[in-house]
Amino acid sequence: MADASDLPLLGGHLSLDFANTLEWRDSEREKDWLTGYDALVAWALKAGAVEAREAEELRAYSDWAPGSAAEVLAEARALRAAFYRVASALAAGGAAGEIPAGDQLDDLNVRLAPLLGQTRLNRTSAGLVSAWGGASDDLARVLWPVARAAFDLLTGAEAGRLRECAGRDCHWLFLDRSKNGSRRWCAMANCGNAAKARRHRAKSHRARSQRGRRQNTADSGGQAA
Ligand SMILES: [Zn+2]
Repeated sequence: MADASDLPLLGGHLSLDFANTLEWRDSEREKDWLTGYDALVAWALKAGAVEAREAEELRAYSDWAPGSAAEVLAEARALRAAFYRVASALAAGGAAGEIPAGDQLDDLNVRLAPLLGQTRLNRTSAGLVSAWGGASDDLARVLWPVARAAFDLLTGAEAGRLRECAGRDCHWLFLDRSKNGSRRWCAMANCGNAAKARRHRAKSHRARSQRGRRQNTADSGGQAA
């Protein structure tokens, strides 16, 4: 069975790949790749949010505290939903100062606050680096880098490049880093080709029905003569 580490990372940003762990959002074929705490850790490892040793430790801790693991999973899904709403609103565009709606932003702020509260500055010989404050057995630590990435993306220079895939029911988010800002699909191989195939089918269907109409006109013309 496919697990969360099989999910392709197409968003171009940790926060967007996190949002994309819900596939075919709100459609009949919706698929949540975060099927459990282990899946969340597997995804985070693949996406580079945690290191292999950290992932192993978190898995071990979660075996001891299944209740906390379930809470963190619920927190992850709530963060994902809140982040998606804000990012999707920004991707859709609109008047600055109105997008995203206040309640969308409030909801995201509530989700981000406890996670971002773990951000620390550490001194090294090379200068200050970002670090994390909380306990190493805090199961929510898998979400700290994700929350930080979400915050950085929405307030950063690339926020204007946020896009939502134009593929039917897809709703995956990505950063459009193309020169002319014209990328429409999460991946050409998925949604781009599906849309091309649909357009092709529609075109040949139209062509067939037009030929059919011409044929009918010719037939009725023949009968009239
Ligand atoms: Zn897509």
